Amino acid sequence: MEIFKKVMSKVNAPGKLSVKAVLFDLDETLIDSVQGHIGAHSAVCRLLGQFLNEKGVQVDEKELLVGISKLDDEMNRKFLYDRDDWWQRLVQEVAPNVSITVDLIQRLTREYWLAYALAAKPYPDTLPTLDYLKKKGYLLGLVSDTDKLPGMKRYRIEIQPFKYLFNMTLVSGEETKETKPSAEPFLVAAEKLGLKPEDCIFVGDKPFADVAGAKNAGMKSVLVHRRDWNSDVAADYVITSLSELENIL
Ligand SMILES: [Mg+2]
Repeated sequence: MEIFKKVMSKVNAPGKLSVKAVLFDLDETLIDSVQGHIGAHSAVCRLLGQFLNEKGVQVDEKELLVGISKLDDEMNRKFLYDRDDWWQRLVQEVAPNVSITVDLIQRLTREYWLAYALAAKPYPDTLPTLDYLKKKGYLLGLVSDTDKLPGMKRYRIEIQPFKYLFNMTLVSGEETKETKPSAEPFLVAAEKLGLKPEDCIFVGDKPFADVAGAKNAGMKSVLVHRRDWNSDVAADYVITSLSELENIL
């Protein structure tokens, strides 16, 4: 209810926002990461389950899936994106006496991202909303943090069906020194578009990374509320689907 009131009060304000560019986050903002995670977690579960079985450790597949899902959430909250570290933690938890080889760790990370890339599709309103903004004359930008597997995030951006609509795409932490919520990637993105940060509005799903980063850079911010992150970082606007951007822009 609070969210609803906040959005409505902004929508009812006279005139729409005067920004020149709309910048987006990728995962869980433009593409459905829930589907991506389901695909990625199953791939890891299959491969790791097989490895553990070969080592004589019987693991319940459902339990392993829940473990991976919990770990994914926890690591994202801590900004720990390096999947190689995740698998060591996971094995430590489910089979503390088994040691995992570097080779398998790297294979799990590759399988995770490839399965994720295949399964995470755009939300139904992603393309129509981007089209709408493009037709309204906004420049479009994308700033997404590294997957910590060099080149993987760039690959995942390039395969998106909406890539051609963007004037600028940036992988923070690979094509810039710092990741969100540092102001650096946001400032680099604005500069690449030839704009000042205050001419840009940033749309993302993570209050502590996307909204905080946009604020640090002096950009306006929109939170797409996909789930509750229990964060007290407040965005200028809160929406629950991308199509609601048409009320703001
Ligand atoms: Mg995101």
